[in-house]
Amino acid sequence: MSEETTTIRPFSAAAFNQYIAEHKLMGARCAKCSKTYTPPRAICPNCHSEEMEWVETSGKGKLAGFTVIYTGPTFMAEQGFDRKNPYVSGIVELEEGTSISARITGLDATKPAEIKIGTPLNVDFVEFGEGEAKKTYLAFKA
Ligand SMILES: [Zn+2]
Repeated sequence: MSEETTTIRPFSAAAFNQYIAEHKLMGARCAKCSKTYTPPRAICPNCHSEEMEWVETSGKGKLAGFTVIYTGPTFMAEQGFDRKNPYVSGIVELEEGTSISARITGLDATKPAEIKIGTPLNVDFVEFGEGEAKKTYLAFKA
């Protein structure tokens, strides 16, 4: 562990995304009531405590809902997704009891009727681009 990784990062979307780039799905856990949040929250919505701490989640969850996206944002179009090649965006309920939306891989987006709520998922980090333009996206694999 370097000094940088042991420093407490702010409970912000930017810090969360920085962890994603490091292939870690982190949550903010409330030290008082133990609820975990992804994306992180600086103040616990449950008990209003500000005693939050970073915890690495198991990365395991299940599909709680999904949408097939035919016209996605630019960064998805750049990865070759369009009307003819749609992708699945879903809500994942993590083992820790928190939910997060992410791209779902390993499912056939052209057959949405075959996609089942409750499908077990594991965190997956999708990298796209080269060199400095390389970005890591949070995804879950069925
Ligand atoms: Zn709390």
